Order: sequence, then C-alpha cells, then structure tokens
Amino acid sequence: MKIFKFGGASIKDADSVRNVASILNKYIQEPLVVVVSAMGKMTNAFETLTEHAFNGNTGHMEKQFGFIRSFHLDILHSLFPDPRHKAFTRVDLLFQEIDSLIKSNDKRGFDFYYDRIVSFGELLSGNIVSSFLQESGNVHTHCDARKLIRTNNSYRDALVLWPETSENIRNAFGLINENTPFILTEGFIGSDPEGNSTTLGREGSDYTAAIFAYALDAEEVVIWKDVPGLLNADPQILSETIKIDRICYSDAIELAYYGAKIIHPKTIKPLQNKKIPLIIKSFSEPELPGSVISDNDEAYQQVPSFIFKFNQTLISITPRDFSFINEENLFGIFGIFSQFRVRINLMQNSAISFSVCIDGENSGFNSLIEALQHDYKVKYNQHLELITIRNYDQDCIEKVVNNRLILLEQRSRATVQLLVESGSSNS
Ligand code: ASP
Ligand code: MG
Repeated sequence: MKIFKFGGASIKDADSVRNVASILNKYIQEPLVVVVSAMGKMTNAFETLTEHAFNGNTGHMEKQFGFIRSFHLDILHSLFPDPRHKAFTRVDLLFQEIDSLIKSNDKRGFDFYYDRIVSFGELLSGNIVSSFLQESGNVHTHCDARKLIRTNNSYRDALVLWPETSENIRNAFGLINENTPFILTEGFIGSDPEGNSTTLGREGSDYTAAIFAYALDAEEVVIWKDVPGLLNADPQILSETIKIDRICYSDAIELAYYGAKIIHPKTIKPLQNKKIPLIIKSFSEPELPGSVISDNDEAYQQVPSFIFKFNQTLISITPRDFSFINEENLFGIFGIFSQFRVRINLMQNSAISFSVCIDGENSGFNSLIEALQHDYKVKYNQHLELITIRNYDQDCIEKVVNNRLILLEQRSRATVQLLVESGSSNS
C-alpha cells in the first residue's frame, strides 16, 4: 500500500484538482491513502482571519472571510458547473461553522482558537477534492482526519498519541474493499481527547502522511510537489541546481533541521523506524522518477546542498561585570531563549561573549532582549544571511559568500555555516 500526499500547490485551483484526479486514475487498482492539505495558500489566509477574529477587528475579519469564501467557491463553480451539486451544500455547512466560530466569544486562548479555525483550510480542501474525485470516477472513502489522528492539547504543535492514532488508522483502513479502494483524508489536523481540533505545526501534512505510513506499514510514501524532486538548493535563489536522486534518512533529517524546505522535519523519523522509503515527485511531470529518501547510504550522491536563511539577527551577549562566559551564564541565557520560544539557528562563544543567530521575524524578540539586558550587555545586528552548505568545498563557499563579510563561521566535517552581510549570493 502507498500513501500519497498532495500539498497546497498541487491543489491551488480547479485545473490542479483535475490533474490530481488524473494522477490517481493511474493508481486506481492499488490500496492507497491520499492525504491533502489546504488549497493554495489558504492556511496563511486562515491565519490572518484568526488574528482579526481574535483581536475583534470585525471589518478586516469580514473582508478576509469573504476572500476565503470566494476562493473556494470559484474552484467549486469551475469543478461543478451545476450549482445544485451536493458539494455546494457540504461546503456551505463548513462556511456556516466558520462564520459562527469567528463571531463566538469562546476564545480560550489564541492557540486553541487558531486550531479551531485554521483546520478549516484542510476540511474545505478535503471536501472539495473528495467530491470531485467521486464525480470523476475515483471512488473512495473520505475519513475526517480529526477522527483518526489523536493528539495531546498542545495547540498549534500538537503531539501525536501514537497507540490510539495507530489503532484508529488501522480500523479505518479496514473499511476499504474492492468497491472503495482508497481513503482520502486531511493532513495537518487532528483532535485532542476532548474532541477539540488540533494542528501538527505548519507544513505538517507531510507528517500526517508519515503517521499513516507507520500505522499501516506502507510500502512507500509519495509527496507530490511542484519540483521534480529534491534539489540541492532553492532554484529561486541559486540558478544552477542539481537534482538529488537518492539520499539517506539521516542526511534528509540534517537538511530539514538546517531549514531546507523539503519536508516537515518530523516526517522522517516514523519512516526511518520502519524503513519506509519517501519519494518526492513532480505533480506536473508524474512519469519522472523523482527523488528517493531511504535507508540506502551507498547510493547517496555527495553533491553540495545549500540552505539560505534571510533576515537573520546576530545577538552578542556579554556579562555586565566582564566575567567569563561559563556554564552558569549559559544555563540562564538558554532558559531565557526557551522562555520566549526563540529558536537559535547558530551559536558561538568566546571568553567574554556569547553570540547567537536567530530568525529576524520573531514575536518574542523585544521581550527576549529586555530579559537578557538584566544581567548582560546586549548588541544586535539585523538583516543578515545565514548560509548552510552540506558537503562543502572551498569553491562553493567562495561562490555563495561572494566577497561579503563573514560575521560568524562554524565548520564540521560535512557542514559549514556562514553568517554573512546580506546582499546577493552569486547565483
Ligand atoms: N496547510 C498546512 C500549512 O500550509 C499544512 C501543510 O500544508 O502541510 O502549513
Ligand atoms: Mg500548505
């Protein structure tokens, strides 16, 4: 059995939904689980809606709701020319639910409210795609992912409760018979033991696909993307990219950890545990082989991979009393970063100073600096670029640094990280 995941870009409009149906037509005889995420960039749109609703900005909220509504209705009208089709009724019910949620006063904290509203991106998508697939002959069972994926109540970053989730998934798969050969479900969403909606963290649909694969001992997971496979750099940043045909799990984890936007970082672990290969394929050229992430180290090509992170901030922290940076200071400093949920991308210490690189857009930034300033002198430098190169050599370092000033550098055997002044990389 295979697990397919179709992300937002693969279902961004009516034509892309038709393309998904034609891809699935080729697999119609195989047991399959199809996981879909929200259409196009709808999760971002729902995030904005949530903020307006939470903050009581009624005017902006209504406008954003109208935008989300017409985006989905335009797709529906194109897929179903007959406005009496039952897909309209289903979608309308979902919109009624959203409408009452954004007007309700039951806001038990932002993260709880976020998960209730943002999960509708996937619910709408699941309903629309499912209706169209039924219509176009891809008969299947549609399962609401919230009934299968059971999580704790860490809203916006919920942890999967594995035993219950695996059992739910196995039971659901028992529904499959020769008349309904596949299951369609939503990525990214689940529910807590009280039945409240939860989400698994942004881009979490890949992870959902891996959860299904783990529970069902799938033969492979295929993530259908708008690129021909895994590239060694983002083609929008470096003009010459190389496709990596094969890579092992641990290298894929490293790349995801350093910020390569290939797959959600949590995705690999469940697959690695059961040695289930992950294939990344292009939905516009489905006949091409794509890239395979698996257990096979030998076939891994040693090409340099580049990861660029823009808008980085370098913070230098020095004890006010000019004492050395020691374990006690570091304990306190890390505690402050963790308290304000600020993730460190790179760090380095010298005798009297500790330097840290973080993402520039950080909601906890001002409070973090304020807290650090109690005991430390804090200086920071904004709008920098962090370049990570795996399998580096001197040539490729020079190419991307392109004579820019390097403010921080760290090398290990396989990876180099360079924090440089912003400006163009040599693409
Ligand atoms: N729709 C969610 C997001 O955009 C989950 C996903 O796409 O994987 O973050
Ligand atoms: Mg998405």
